[in-house]
Amino acid sequence: MQKQPFDIDQAITRIEEAVKPYPKAAMFELFDEGFTTPFEQLVACILSIRTYDEVSLVCAQRLFALARTPQAMVQLPIAQIDAAIGQSTFHERKAPQIQAIAQRILAEFDGELPCDPAVLISFQGVGPKCAHLALGIACGEAYISVDIHVHRVTNRWGYVQAKTPEQTMAALEEKLPQGYWIDINRLLAPFGKHICTGKLPKCSACPVLAMCQQVGVKAHW
Ligand code: SF4
Repeated sequence: MQKQPFDIDQAITRIEEAVKPYPKAAMFELFDEGFTTPFEQLVACILSIRTYDEVSLVCAQRLFALARTPQAMVQLPIAQIDAAIGQSTFHERKAPQIQAIAQRILAEFDGELPCDPAVLISFQGVGPKCAHLALGIACGEAYISVDIHVHRVTNRWGYVQAKTPEQTMAALEEKLPQGYWIDINRLLAPFGKHICTGKLPKCSACPVLAMCQQVGVKAHW
């Protein structure tokens, strides 16, 4: 099939429509439920590491029912944090990390986590993906967060050519209009989960098929 030139505005508009029937990515869902602070979003992101979205969402809701501020989190024994997030992968490591983060926020930042990527990345267990996503959602600041879905989909489009999520992030920072920096994760997480899936992507039903180069796609529906 002769492909049309890739038009990012068209792609975003079509994907926005295509993902409407699917659940939102956990952190965006939590934001809509009122968990809007940088601390809540950072904790939610930690819980999502190596964990399915539907599982990390429930863990976050359970933990936030007990404590949703650094002040409340330091009052919780680590065993209680661990019990609340028990379905999250590496929960036994994440529970003390979450409490240590809460303690540092109290000790160093007067109980309020600042919208500063350097601060977030300085916490144990927090990498650029989580820091950027939490700051993008909670602070409304333009950061790109590249998870496995954003990496896979944007490379399949042929929009970027990158071997690792880190390289994809650098390439997107060069090329993607800033207005889409937060949306790219919000949209491509459900799109990558349900349409442009890792195995057998649903290309024949895909709204961007006409302009997608389908790089590396050997078999599809
Ligand atoms: S056409 Fe296929 S490879 Fe391209 S975005 Fe759609 S599902 Fe993914």
